[in-house]
Amino acid sequence: MLDKEVKTLKKRARPRPKDMRRHFFLEGVVQGVGFRPFIFGLALRHGLKGWVNNSSAGVHVEVEGKRGAVENFTRELPQQAPPRARIESSRYEDLEAAGFHSFEIRESLEEPGKYQLISPDIATCAACQAEILNPQDRRHRYPFTNCTNCGPRFTIIEDIPYDRPKTTMAKFRMCPDCQREYEDPADRRFHAQPNACPRCGPKLEFCGDDGKAFEVMDPISSAIGLLKEGKILAIKGLGGFLFACDAADPSAVARLRQRKVRPDKPLAVMLRDLPAVKDHCLVAEKEEMLLRSPESPIVLLRWKKGSRLAKAVAPRQKYLGVMLPYTPLHHLLLKESGMSLVMTSGNLSEEPIAKDNEEAFSRLHGIADAFLVHDRDIYVQYDDSVTAVVNDQPTILRRARGYAPFPIRLPFSLKPILACGAELKNTFCLTRDEYAFVSQHIGDMENLETLNHFQRTLDLYQKLFRIRPETVAYDLHPEYLSTKYALRLPGDKIGVQHHFAHMASCLAENGEMGPVIGLAFDGLGFGADGNLWGGEFLVGDYGSFERRAHLEYVPMPGGAAAIQNPWRMALSYLYAFLGREGLMRHLPIFAQAKEETIRVILRQIDRQIHSPLTSSCGRLFDAVSALLGLCVSISYEGQAAVELEMIASAGETGAYEFFVEEEGGKEIIRLKPMIEGILRDLEKGTAHPVISGKFHNALVKIGLSICQRIQRQGGPKKVALTGGVFQNRLLSEKMKAALEKAGFAVLLHRRVPCNDGGLSLGQAVIANFIAS
Ligand SMILES: [Zn+2]
Ligand SMILES: [Zn+2]
Repeated sequence: MLDKEVKTLKKRARPRPKDMRRHFFLEGVVQGVGFRPFIFGLALRHGLKGWVNNSSAGVHVEVEGKRGAVENFTRELPQQAPPRARIESSRYEDLEAAGFHSFEIRESLEEPGKYQLISPDIATCAACQAEILNPQDRRHRYPFTNCTNCGPRFTIIEDIPYDRPKTTMAKFRMCPDCQREYEDPADRRFHAQPNACPRCGPKLEFCGDDGKAFEVMDPISSAIGLLKEGKILAIKGLGGFLFACDAADPSAVARLRQRKVRPDKPLAVMLRDLPAVKDHCLVAEKEEMLLRSPESPIVLLRWKKGSRLAKAVAPRQKYLGVMLPYTPLHHLLLKESGMSLVMTSGNLSEEPIAKDNEEAFSRLHGIADAFLVHDRDIYVQYDDSVTAVVNDQPTILRRARGYAPFPIRLPFSLKPILACGAELKNTFCLTRDEYAFVSQHIGDMENLETLNHFQRTLDLYQKLFRIRPETVAYDLHPEYLSTKYALRLPGDKIGVQHHFAHMASCLAENGEMGPVIGLAFDGLGFGADGNLWGGEFLVGDYGSFERRAHLEYVPMPGGAAAIQNPWRMALSYLYAFLGREGLMRHLPIFAQAKEETIRVILRQIDRQIHSPLTSSCGRLFDAVSALLGLCVSISYEGQAAVELEMIASAGETGAYEFFVEEEGGKEIIRLKPMIEGILRDLEKGTAHPVISGKFHNALVKIGLSICQRIQRQGGPKKVALTGGVFQNRLLSEKMKAALEKAGFAVLLHRRVPCNDGGLSLGQAVIANFIAS
């Protein structure tokens, strides 16, 4: 098609003798980020003629003019590209001059099979913020203001190339003013696909708890009035509904928790600006950068003692999840109310976030007192991302808004593979070329709604990135929905051991090839021996691994019941190490359980009924948390471990003992001295923060000594810290410091979560190696 164009142009051409023509092809995030107007402006500045257009694969540019001007254009293009653009590759070739008369923006081009990277949604830019707050501006208080530098992208796109008819903005016809902006290359909204104004764009509606719209003058003021009364508001946002309530009102927060069936899990808050954040939290420089970044994620910040926000927002936590407003609607709500708002996903417990109005009215009925909705459809759910600065590095703990669907780029090319992930906090991963497209956070694959969300998002990624997977990777756990789903798909199947995938994920996001020691401290993952692993020292690369050491196995009495009730794990450890008599001496620890229940559990263990063996470090955390009486039962995943971390005295230097035994060619880490030490300390009345500190230190000592043993036996001097337990900052930071002090290179997760949210990446890369 291009060639034909060139030929017809040549016929008309009357090139000046010294002119040269250069054709560029650029790939990366180059659409929906103001790239064409930038090229247009740059060409005009250098007095160049030619054209630019979007294609399914990227952006084509041709410039023609004096050699010096073309060279300057070539140099400045990557240097001055718009802030949200990401040029992944740039190629050009010089052609015979064609005699262009002007510089123009041409129709987008569809090329079958081609694809391009797509920008995530971007937080409202400063210029748009200024407009909505300016009473003289035509977008004053308009909640859907955006421009080429900001606004929705991924959540409204249905197919590529990224043009308005292929977005959920298609149904809104631009008014003459918006159209003028859209067509003016000098305008900030030139070819801004979601461009809109109060006259022509989406509109807000304020609805009662039954979904019926109220006839109100100003939905924003009405919504604020409701929030001030301590009520719960469901707000339709960028990627789905969020529940909001006054974060400073303990009874409002309690009501939200009760209705949402979320008694303990920390809630995120949205604060109006940085000074407001600093009123409530300590903010280091890197944390401030994260907060203010265009991704605008939730950042876990150290919560100040004197903060007036309700304790119930994040009970027993040191950290508070905070974000700044990221849509014009948020800016208006927070500025005009002066409030601090809880903002949490609009769902019941672990279901996916609701995204459509009617769906929200029915699913969120009984939780929200009112709804603030609009008529721009959300094509795909997109949760808020969660981040923290760990080991002095921005680290993603939940990867969605602002980050996905931007891929992880690998130092090698991959086959088309689909990796289905595991169960909790699930994502999938699709690969092609050197890209791994890790999906946004999908959720816990435990119900049909989440599976539907998974399927719909997978369909979208396959369409947008033109991927037809030939191989499917899945977790070895036979009961996972993701495994069952994978096994029903056509194509080759490759089962990948859970912690092998964790290790590979860490290698992949660091662009490393291995070999490495994979230190995987995790909740649970199905092991190659049929037991539930989770305290593992693997050695390997993408092709294979060897299990070199692990925490010793103990029974998990009742399976899932042991996860919900950490006291069962405490009982199991005590029974394993002290026997029945020893256990009876410590019976007061299990005061909440009937003696009869305990007898039943012990019988379960003896007869090996429904008591799978586990080496999980997460379950060890549970046991210790229960021994201290912190968390005998939990209401969200990882709660017992989180609460144990929160009380730990970070300055503690003591550590509990352990020993190592060789068994069948593996090192088994024996924990009896550790558990006995904790019991002794409890009897002595040692403060719980000290016990928790010594427990954390013991895990660091285990990590270091096993890595040193492996290394002495000729193993690698590089360690990948992976698995959900490493969401524990104290452990992650202490482990890294200890290993580095001993001369190990340490790889950490930063771009994908260390928890199961990062697992699909590892599965995909392993499958790629095994399939070849
Ligand atoms: Zn903007
Ligand atoms: Zn308009």
